[in-house]
Amino acid sequence: MEEVVEGTTTVKVAVRVRPLSDKEIREGGTECVEVTENSVTLVQENQQPHVFAFDHVFGVDSTQPQVFDMLGMPLLDKAFEGYNATVFAYGQTGSGKTHTMMADRKSDDRGLIPRISDNLFQRVGSLSSETHKFLICCSFLEIYNEIVYDLLVPRGKNAPKTGLEIREGKGIGVYVKDLQEIVVDSSDKVLKLIDQGFEHRATAATQMNATSSRSHCLFIIKMHQKAHGSKHLSGTLATDCPLVALTLPLSQDEQNAGNNNFSKMNLVDLAGSERASRTGAQGDLLKEGANINKSLSALGNVINALSSMASGSKKVFIPYRNSKLTRVLQESLGGNALTTMMAALSPSKTNADESLSTLNYAKRAK
Ligand code: ADP
Ligand code: MG
Repeated sequence: MEEVVEGTTTVKVAVRVRPLSDKEIREGGTECVEVTENSVTLVQENQQPHVFAFDHVFGVDSTQPQVFDMLGMPLLDKAFEGYNATVFAYGQTGSGKTHTMMADRKSDDRGLIPRISDNLFQRVGSLSSETHKFLICCSFLEIYNEIVYDLLVPRGKNAPKTGLEIREGKGIGVYVKDLQEIVVDSSDKVLKLIDQGFEHRATAATQMNATSSRSHCLFIIKMHQKAHGSKHLSGTLATDCPLVALTLPLSQDEQNAGNNNFSKMNLVDLAGSERASRTGAQGDLLKEGANINKSLSALGNVINALSSMASGSKKVFIPYRNSKLTRVLQESLGGNALTTMMAALSPSKTNADESLSTLNYAKRAK
């Protein structure tokens, strides 16, 4: 069961190496990773160095603004052009995924998601509301053990064990049924939703005796824009306010009407990629690990297929149906979308094996 996709998808692969942590230094960890702007070299004892080439490489001294300039700006450009764009943070637990995506969202050290939100509303504010209308809304979900949960509603003890359903509607495409979509008109509102989502996530994790590193966390920003002169969108846009409520999801026809004015940004902090074998998991934890491996490899296969499309093959089968993660994102990956894989690495010798597997995963995406 696969989908045929046409278009020119852009797949970018970036790597970020974080500084050695205090713990790694205490344990005698020394650095085994060397970087240039476009390459990573992993040096292991008694082995030939492994050299990998990527689109962007961020070294231990890289800053959050640098990462935003290289990865966040192009994503926003793509969204304002009316296309979908997705960033995945991949890597073992503790490698810096959440630091890159979020960090302390109120500090100067804040990561990609808060910066994207800030810049989005700066751009919207700089465009005249006479000529441009925007509707922006956010969803926040997590996928744990192949179950989709809405992070914008408290999970509660009576929440269905099966989570949210993924549906496919004629003319609508693939969507998550009953997922909250909250209209936002400022970056502050976006940050409040993120706070709320993290609170729900933490409470639910405690109830389930789980840790957040075992689930995929997706923050989704939908943007509907109408520039003066583009085709009218099914009569639902008010003309006298910059932000108006529309009925969502829009049908494919509505999405295609006008001038590509509907886009989604998916900002994804993936579950830790460390293999279950290393953590010595058994029982439920082993199942959890197997689900993580399954969804990360399904994602790798989808991105690999999209990459081969980018490099010339015109029609490609994309195996979206092999995991909830790829299924939820089906509408956003492929077509004329931008997909960015951001692999996070520990520089420490003590993590060299995991780093090698992360680099190999990232390489496959290219
Ligand atoms: P992950 O989300 O992959 O499990 P985290 O983002 O939580 O990892 O990072 C683990 C620790 O390393 C955190 O304390 C974080 O602040 C720190 N860290 C990660 N990346 C960087 C970086 N680039 N610079 C400084 N500290 C970092
Ligand atoms: Mg994390």
